[in-house]
Order: sequence, then structure tokens, then C-alpha cells
Amino acid sequence: MSDWNKRTKLVHGGIRRSQYNEVSEAIFLTQGFVYENAEQAEARFIESGPDEFIYARYGNPTVSMFEQRIALLEGTEDAFAAASGMAAVNGALTSLVKSGDHVVSAKALFGSCLHILENILANFGVEITFVDGTNLDEWRAAVRPDTKVCFFESMSNPTLEVIDIAGVAEIAHSVGATVVVDNVFSTPVFSKAVEQGADVIVYSATKHIDGQGRALGGVVLGTKDYIRGTLEPYMKHTGGSLSPFNAWVMLKGLETIDLRVRAQAETAQKIAEAVEGNEALLRAIYPGLKNHAQNALVQTQLGGKGGTVLSLDIKGGKDAAFKFLNALTIPVISNNLGDAKTIVTHPATTTHQRLSDEQKVDLGINPGLIRFSVGLEDDRDLIADVLQALEASQA
Ligand SMILES: *Cc1c(COP(=O)(O)O)cnc(C)c1O
Repeated sequence: MSDWNKRTKLVHGGIRRSQYNEVSEAIFLTQGFVYENAEQAEARFIESGPDEFIYARYGNPTVSMFEQRIALLEGTEDAFAAASGMAAVNGALTSLVKSGDHVVSAKALFGSCLHILENILANFGVEITFVDGTNLDEWRAAVRPDTKVCFFESMSNPTLEVIDIAGVAEIAHSVGATVVVDNVFSTPVFSKAVEQGADVIVYSATKHIDGQGRALGGVVLGTKDYIRGTLEPYMKHTGGSLSPFNAWVMLKGLETIDLRVRAQAETAQKIAEAVEGNEALLRAIYPGLKNHAQNALVQTQLGGKGGTVLSLDIKGGKDAAFKFLNALTIPVISNNLGDAKTIVTHPATTTHQRLSDEQKVDLGINPGLIRFSVGLEDDRDLIADVLQALEASQA
């Protein structure tokens, strides 16, 4: 299976068939498994093989299929599925540190990731240093012999800064730290994070992996040693395991993810080019645009693909941003991303509302900033809609 190309892996990878030889993956919606006799139960609690399950919090055949398929796609030895993206981030970080350890993290983070570092880990005596993730000198100055983890979003939310995975990995590895990458915005389709030196890769499967807004899920990918030796004990005892039903939704999502994400990124590029320089905008941020600060890195790190999200900084602040949102006729106002439906978000009043004004300025979350997650609609319809809404924003 590992010789297959991506799309073949995504359709057939990790398949386990029951005695009925079903075509579509079965949903094993069961919490437990029956042992043939007491001796078998005893043996399985001592050591269970890959096809021997005990309890759904520890593992389940549908969940295993999802883990194997996504590990094949990402090119890691193993994966552990989690109940949500945040269960995955929490597991990945918390399983690696103890009181007294040091973590270096990029400061441009999803709000809940920031909460885990600033509130939860810090309360348990882990010291955190925040850096500008795009500045390798800051990473170099921040790492120490007791640094256990370097953490960042490879493409930040919502300002779409791209962080140099290979550059940070070299610095982190020089002090023996583990590189944990939240790779949601880069997507598993365009990611080559393993080749670039990431040790642990995390996805919210709620985003592009489901891709149709149905279920929460997450996944952590890495070496077999890390996944089974370090992460699994943490996850299986703290309860962040993925439901078999949601694992099935994600498995079916993987079958089409390559087609969906490529089409969405292509449309995102077209919209970015259509609105670049528009009079209603302070700036159009899209990593696939030549004028993006890290466009050269996008070429090497992501094969030139700018992802499925763009951010539009509209002239006239919050009032103009709200006029823009309310004038759009196709995109829905919500806060997911990576969905088949185009979704627009005003970060300053929703996802990033709780940041202080200083933090918002520091992270570039301006009052006029809109996060625009591009879906699967016809690009011509979306471009026409965006252009008329930009005009309406200035009326
Ligand atoms: C959505 C998201 C998460 C959290 O995922 P959930 O599935 O909502 O728990 C973490 N990191 C990033 C970058 C995200 O976009």
C-alpha cells in the first residue's frame, strides 16, 4: 500500500473487511468486543495484536481504518485518532511535557491552542516562550537545553503566515526538542511536513478531512514509538478517543479530500487574483499570491499551493466588514473552514473576540479582516458575489 500514489491510498488505504466482504467500510458502532473464553480475555489485556480490540476508548476497527489511511497519506508510521482537533492538540502537547519543562511556541495560534499553553500547561509548571513564528532568529534565541517541544501552526489563522517547518525543525532538533505542527491550514493534501522535519503532525479532521461540515474529529501522526509509546497511553486513559461513527465519516471524507482540496485551492487562487488591488481592500492575504511575504516558502514547502483560505482586510473597519458579510449571497456566515460550502468569518468579533486589543493588533487581526474559506461552488459565481459585496462594503 505504501507504494501506491496518493489518490489510490485515499480510496483503499487501511481497509479491513468483515466476514461479509462489504465494499464500503463498515461502522463498528460498538464500545466493546466479546472474548471467546476467559483465557483469551486475559491474554488480550497482556498484549493485543492489530486485529484484537478491547474497548473503543483504546481502539476500534473503524477508527483503525481511519488512522491507517491518514498515516498512509501523510507518510508517517502511525496515527492516533482523537475526538476533536483540540483533543489531538492537547494530547500531542501534554503527552510530551512535565512540570519544569520548557516549550517554545509561535504566538499566532488558534485560540484554544493558546489556552492549552497559556492556561493549562503553564498552570502545571511548564514554561512557555512565545515567538514570531516566521522569524527563525527568534526561535534560535528561545530554545534551551530544557526545551522539550517547539509548536506552531504551519499556516496561521487568520493572517495566513507560513512558517518554515525545515528551518524550525533544524533549530529544535539541535537541542533535542520535538517539533509539533498544527497543520490544518496547510492541509494533508499539500503537506510534506514529515520530509521537512516535523516529528508530530496534528490535524483537526473537522476541517478538510470531513470537508462537509458533519462531524468533529482530530488526528495525531508520528512514529510508531511516539504514537503507541507516548501518545496512546495519554489518550486512552484521558478519554479523547474518536467515535467509530465519526471515524467512518472521516474515512469517507478521505476518499475525496485530494479532489476537493485541490479544487478549493484553485478557486481560492482565482478569487485572490480577482480581488488583489481592489479599491475596497487594504490588502488581500493569500499565500499563493506572489506578493505574499512567504510566497517563496510556499513554493518549496507546499508545492506552490496557497491553501483553501484567504483573508481580506476591508477598508472601513468593522462596519464595512459587516456590510461585506451581509451583502454576500453564496457564502454562509459561520466559523468552520475547509468545508464544501464557502464560509466567511469576522475573526475580531467571533473566533478571536477574547483577545485583547493589543493582541489583535500584534497578530494583524484588524477590525476589517474577513476570513474567507473557499468551498466547492463554481469559481465564477463566487468571484461575482465577492466583487459585488466588496462594492457594497464601501457604500
Ligand atoms: C479548528 C482548529 C483546531 C481545533 O479543531 P476542533 O476540531 O474544532 O477541535 C485546531 N487548530 C486549528 C488550526 C484549527 O483550525
